[in-house]
Amino acid sequence: MKRYFLFIIAAMFSAFAQEPPSKNPTVEKILKEISADNIKASVEKLVSFGTRHTLSDTVSETRGIGAARRWIKSEFERYAKASGGRLSVAFHESTVPPSTRIPNPTNVINVVATLKPKNPNSESAKRLIVVGGHYDSRASDPMDARSDAPGANDDGSGTALVLELARVMSKYEFDATLVFIAFAAEEQGLFGAGAWAKMAKDNGWNVEAVFNNDIVGNSMGGDGVRKNEYVRLFSEAFSAVDTGMAFRRTVSLGHENDGGSRSLARYIKEIAERYNPDFSVKMVYRLDRFSRGGDHRPFHQLGFSAVRFSVATENYDWQHQDVRAEKGKEYGDLVKFMDFDYCANIARANAAGMATLANAPAPPENCQIVAALGYETVLRWNKNTESDLAGYFVRSRETTSPVWQHQLFTSDTTVSLKATKDEYLFGIQAVDKDGNASLVSMPRAVGR
Ligand SMILES: [Zn+2]
Repeated sequence: MKRYFLFIIAAMFSAFAQEPPSKNPTVEKILKEISADNIKASVEKLVSFGTRHTLSDTVSETRGIGAARRWIKSEFERYAKASGGRLSVAFHESTVPPSTRIPNPTNVINVVATLKPKNPNSESAKRLIVVGGHYDSRASDPMDARSDAPGANDDGSGTALVLELARVMSKYEFDATLVFIAFAAEEQGLFGAGAWAKMAKDNGWNVEAVFNNDIVGNSMGGDGVRKNEYVRLFSEAFSAVDTGMAFRRTVSLGHENDGGSRSLARYIKEIAERYNPDFSVKMVYRLDRFSRGGDHRPFHQLGFSAVRFSVATENYDWQHQDVRAEKGKEYGDLVKFMDFDYCANIARANAAGMATLANAPAPPENCQIVAALGYETVLRWNKNTESDLAGYFVRSRETTSPVWQHQLFTSDTTVSLKATKDEYLFGIQAVDKDGNASLVSMPRAVGR
């Protein structure tokens, strides 16, 4: 991000404060430790199970989904040991009743690793930041549990990325709780993610963000053009729970691109590109690729902020295809079609967003913008309680801009800006002394 001083905006502050740095050295260290070779080794291991179809063998030690998930669990456990016990690992099981792609009641098992926060009794500890990829795979026929379904890219890549983030990040401490999940049964109907999302909702867990990674490991498109300089990040504006007067008020304020999932996408783009300027994050204003879906969907539908990372360009010969050759053309989701340096950059984009968010304060509460006519814009919000708080960033952007354009630091909880609220959107972030900024809170309109 470029550092802007708001020149269209002058502020009056009563408090003097030190503006925190824009980069946290710990986040830079985490990004450096992410290894393309490790991701490659994990993908190769996942492919070695032949198929990871949800209805495949669960007993064999060498083939099928059972062997695959036991290996994923053992990998997480290896990192758990290195973390001094702060990472805990478990299977999360649920029984899925018969449906289109589930002929009989089926046990669906996510593999979940949870990193204990720095201070388990703090408010920040209740914020959960989830990163996931699905470990199941499929062949041409979604019901074919016997044929090879290597699933190197879909979604061995996302699973390997999650493992690599767990390996690296579990060596560090964060204010919030990090949850690394290898989701089950995505290809049969998003069942593993759906069960975990419902459990989170039923328990009232504060899932602050969900980073879904699905098809994040190839850079060569079906058109023969390589695109390795950016990743796509999909987000839907609002979900089914955004209804009624509150929703209409939000839209009437022009906040239609500031729903939870879209705000999260904007946040990730800004942070990821700040730490890795040679690699960009392209926001796509859509739940997923056209008329398709993924494991972020059940989270988004329940009102959690959830986004999907996916490669810049697709190759349909290499996904959801039986491994075969036809007329000299190769089909199938194979390791040799992948680009692990590219996948590592996508992992870094995830890590930058997750690490920053996990150490940031909570987003400021009760943000207000005064609706009265006037040449100034008055904003106020509640004071954050975190002990490492440095202050707040007041953000602004033109109503048509996809990204925040301006930033102003204050340690106060009220600002009066020489800027017109008619043409700009405003938001508030809390920021700690290391420069970790929260998600942006949007103000509601008040009379005065
Ligand atoms: Zn997938």
